[in-house]
This record gives sequence, C-alpha cells and structure tokens, in this order.
Amino acid sequence: MNTNIQIEPLRNWKIFRNKPLIIAGPCSAESEDQLMITARELAATGKVDVFRAGIWKPRTRPNSFEGVGSEGLKWLKQVKLETGLPTATEVATEKHVYEALKFGVDVLWIGARTTVNPFAMQEIADALQGVDVMVFVKNPINPELELWIGAVERLCKAGITRIGAIHRGFSSYEKTAFRNQPKWQIAIDLRQRFPGLSILCDPSHMGGDRAFLQDISQEAMDLDYDGLMIESHFDPDHALSDKKQQVTPDQLSILLDQLILRTVDSPDSQFMSTMDELRSQIDIYDDLLLDILERRMQVAQTIGQFKKAHNITILQSNRWQEIVNKAVRKGGTKGLSVEFISTILKAIHQESIAHQLKVMNENTMMEIGLPIEK
Ligand code: PEP
Ligand code: MN
Repeated sequence: MNTNIQIEPLRNWKIFRNKPLIIAGPCSAESEDQLMITARELAATGKVDVFRAGIWKPRTRPNSFEGVGSEGLKWLKQVKLETGLPTATEVATEKHVYEALKFGVDVLWIGARTTVNPFAMQEIADALQGVDVMVFVKNPINPELELWIGAVERLCKAGITRIGAIHRGFSSYEKTAFRNQPKWQIAIDLRQRFPGLSILCDPSHMGGDRAFLQDISQEAMDLDYDGLMIESHFDPDHALSDKKQQVTPDQLSILLDQLILRTVDSPDSQFMSTMDELRSQIDIYDDLLLDILERRMQVAQTIGQFKKAHNITILQSNRWQEIVNKAVRKGGTKGLSVEFISTILKAIHQESIAHQLKVMNENTMMEIGLPIEK
C-alpha cells in the first residue's frame, strides 16, 4: 500500500453523478460536424457523464489517420458549450497538456502507449505540476503492473489528487478473439495497491469489436468497476479510426440499459446474514488449506533431510511431472481448470524446494559461518 499518496474518491469529482461513470465519444475527433452530431446524440441519451474524443492519435503504423490536432480542441470547447458535457482527451506530451488545458478540456487521459514510457510520463507529470485537473491513466500496453503503478505515482507526486485508472487490456503477439487481453487480475492487483483509486473499464479497446462490448461491460460491472469508457460515433462504419469497435449513441444507450448493476452490500438483512454464514464457511476452508499446506511442507522437509542423508537431488523431474498429471486429471473431475491446478501446484512445488534447500544447506551454512534463517 502507498501511504503517502492522496487520491480523491471519484464520488467527490465534479463530473460524477452516479456509479457507473460513463465516458463516451468517438475514438477520434474528425470534423466539427462529426463531433457535434455525435455529442448532441450522446447528450440526448442523458446517460453520458463525459464526452471523449482523441485529438492526437497514437497510431501503430504511419500513414493512418493521426488526429486533427489542436484544431479539434475548438470543437471540443463548442461541444461543452452546447451540450454542457465535460470533455476528455488523450495527452501524450507536454505540448498536448498545455493545449488541452488552454481550451478548457476537463479530463485528461494517458494512453496505453504513453503509460509504458517513464520519460513521457515524467514529462506529462511535470507539465501538470500543481494543475487542478482530472486525469485517468490507462494500463500500459504490456501486462506490467509496476509501469501502471509508476505512472499513477508520478502524477500523484506532481500533486494531482483526482486521479483514476482505465483498464483497456494488454496486447499479445498471438492473435486472439479480443484485441487486447483483459487479464482482470492485474487491475484487481492495482486496486489492492491503491485502495481508493477508481477504475474504469474500456471495453472498446479491450474487445476491438462492438460485438463484445456488452459482455465485457457486464464483467466490469460484476467486478465492481467504477465506470466505463466506450467509443461512440454517429456513423461508426465511416469512422477514420477504430470503426469496428464503435457504436452509435443509440446502441450505446441500449447497452447501458441492459447492464445489470450490482452493489457491494445489500440493505436486505436476510441476504447479509446468509452471506456472513457462507463467508465464514470460506474462512474455515482457507484455514484448513493453510493447515494442510503447513503439514505438506513439514513432510517435504523430512524428505529433504532424508535426501540429504542419501545424497539425492532435491529436484526429481519425473516424480514431479507425475504429480502434476495426476492432479490435473483429478482436478478435472472436480471442476478445477488445468490452468488453476498447474499454477497452484507450481507454487507449492517452489515452496517445497525452498524448504528442502534450507534443510540441505543448513550445516553447510553453519560451517561457513552464515546465519541460518529459520
Ligand atoms: C483511445 O482511447 O482512443 C486510445 C488510443 O486508447 P489506448 O491508449 O487504450 O489504445
Ligand atoms: Mn480508439
């Protein structure tokens, strides 16, 4: 946990009305008409809190549409004036920050290709020193929690307190159904490291196709995300960037209506007491698991002593492969996935080896005068 970091809860930000916070708008600002039509239609749904549009577009390959640049900031200002919606755009350099702030953009976000770069992040943090603005940090393109954390920390150190994260998934070399892999656990770990940091999900860049938006958005709600950033264009099929994943404002409105919203607690006392009872069962099983692991490690240590006495190696690859295969087969009959069983057994095996290494090296360490960790 980072104790010296101050983060203002999303419910205190002026853009917040209800959970989930909805940020919507086109991938890119393309023309004044495109922006105004889309913004009017989104505002008319009454379901959007912030209007987004990319002004400077970080494209993977050259010769793609790279955004209209500062010209588009005038249109964003017009959107705010006409619809009353606060606006958001992506910034990747010091110049972007100054320009966006000059035109009164309310919310800035840092794109995945920028979070990944500590130099760029520091340049942005320096430009934001002491500025009263709301900032969201998208996850880096690669599945690296520390880079995401580092980007948040740099902004916090610059005095930004209204800061949140956007989970848009992680790229991989292999072609997969989704454009970017969710790897939900990384966002859950981020929340664990910064309790109080709000997290939105960006199902548009995660799925890469409008067909996936509903399911991904629902999953984010089920995981208690604070909001969604979704790309919406009045004419998605003719969008200049990310056309497959954009939806019309009407489609967005239907998607939001269909979301099932859940709360963390319930005012229903019957429900809460049943939950308490079920949770105490979970606590009992967790304690049992720990007891069993302790006993298993004790046996592993005895084996370690025995191997030492007979000069036998700690690692016994064949035996280990047998254990894994057997457990995976048995786990399958108990509804446990191959991935889960393999991960858990690998961790147990590593711990066993660590215990056995300690046993094997105890005397050697004493002989050479090193302290023995007990
Ligand atoms: C975007 O929001 O349009 C964008 C470029 O997103 P990301 O940084 O997630 O790729
Ligand atoms: Mn996009």
